[in-house]
Amino acid sequence: MRRPFVAANWKMHKTVQEAVAYARDFAPRVEAVRNVDIVIAPPFLALPALVEATANSRVLVAAQNVHTAPHGAFTGEVSLGMLQGSGVTLVIIGHSERRQLFGETDAGVNTKTRATIDAGLTPIVCVGETLEEREADRTFDVLDRQVRDGLAGLSAGQVAALVVAYEPVWAIGTGRNATPDQADEAHRHIRQQLASQFGDAAAACRVIYGGSVKPGNVAELSARPDVDGALVGGASLDPASFAEIVASSRPATV
Ligand code: PEP
Repeated sequence: MRRPFVAANWKMHKTVQEAVAYARDFAPRVEAVRNVDIVIAPPFLALPALVEATANSRVLVAAQNVHTAPHGAFTGEVSLGMLQGSGVTLVIIGHSERRQLFGETDAGVNTKTRATIDAGLTPIVCVGETLEEREADRTFDVLDRQVRDGLAGLSAGQVAALVVAYEPVWAIGTGRNATPDQADEAHRHIRQQLASQFGDAAAACRVIYGGSVKPGNVAELSARPDVDGALVGGASLDPASFAEIVASSRPATV
């Protein structure tokens, strides 16, 4: 049994004060939810305050990105050591917005993933095809490449412990989610690719779905056996909405 994993990606939303107010509202709403990993990824600036505000709750805190150098002349970047020092335990890597807007490559995703694991943090590695790639029937090729190159060189044990987020780019922020059948098909394919690279670790690695997840569609999506939870953007910005998504996610089975 893989433990469901539900994460909020706030992107560039919320001030420090808004993040703390959210945590105070949200944490009690999910206090009674058992057997689900609950994660919030705020902007960098709000990380320490959110770690503190969620300290006695079931909520874990993730960064949305990281730089792999320990320190140095990298204006605007944040290191793994800085994240560790703030109590952050997970990092989103290779989000499609990072790939599309900031030129991140599979090789860069691999470097960040390996460094994040070496630092003792858990990567949430994002993969997913564009609409153009789907329409050209290249979805599986793209997913294979992103998984193969993004996770190259990892051990089976490392892969078993990380999270892969399948996020079809055409479904992110568009209000148009993948159907449960589309998500299921892609997740099964990703797990096959993981199995070909890492054997039995594929059965332990959590593969979550992202792309216009809402309270009204999460139960149907996460009821599919290979969908182990959700990465949620827009619908995570409201604490009541995200709490409903967490409560409605269903355990997946191996
Ligand atoms: C995301 O940013 O990872 C995402 C899935 O966004 P949304 O839920 O808004 O589509």
